[in-house]
Amino acid sequence: MERGYDPIALAEVTRRIVERDGGRKYYRFRGGRWYGGIATADCVGCNLRCIFCWSNTPRDNPAMGWGFYSPEEVYRNLVKIAERRGYRLLRVSGNEPTICWDHLMKILELVEEDGRFKFILETNGTLIDEAKAYDLSMFRRVHVRVSLKGACEEEFSLLTGARPEAFELQLNALKHLADQNVPAHPAVMLSFSSEESLGKLIERLNEIDPVYVRELEEEYVFLYPHVKERLRRAGIIPKVAYEPDRVPEDLV
Ligand code: SF4
Repeated sequence: MERGYDPIALAEVTRRIVERDGGRKYYRFRGGRWYGGIATADCVGCNLRCIFCWSNTPRDNPAMGWGFYSPEEVYRNLVKIAERRGYRLLRVSGNEPTICWDHLMKILELVEEDGRFKFILETNGTLIDEAKAYDLSMFRRVHVRVSLKGACEEEFSLLTGARPEAFELQLNALKHLADQNVPAHPAVMLSFSSEESLGKLIERLNEIDPVYVRELEEEYVFLYPHVKERLRRAGIIPKVAYEPDRVPEDLV
């Protein structure tokens, strides 16, 4: 019986839509208060379908529109925002940055050459294998945040609709990053988790690297209108959730 989609296959299908001639589709460039202030390029397209995701149309309809930006254009836009607002941090967010790997590597090269900024790579980690972790180890100005979608295989599958085994890809990313000494930490969506599954996750993280347990970041769902609707349709009730203080303008 089919037990959900394959995130690796969906990444390739999505890449073909959102990547062209070394450029990638983006739907917005913005400043933001996260991490104490960070310039953000919001990319189009993801290889997961998290029920709690705040990205809406740019995730579900990547073919719909938006422009392609070269790595140089993305970098210039990020730097412009950072300089104007006095930020020292940059990121690609909004969807999954690692889908267009060569494009991302070029942006990281520009961060490295410039030398003034740090780049936070926010990723679901499903595409970070040994070779990609090695690529990342070449940079000195990157920190990777791997966002785990639930605390175990069953929660991952419930929350993303993907096949449960793909949760292992997320944990493997953390292992590969630790093996290559790439600065990284895990975050985990805990709104739908039991204490038992969190306990087991902590054991698994401890086996990979005890530092990951100390630095584990907790994430909880924000109940944007489209997220509420998805949860209602799926009949899933979060144990902990927050009402957003505002609806991001990209939720179209
Ligand atoms: S991995 Fe992130 S961007 Fe992709 S669906 Fe999940 S929450 Fe949304």
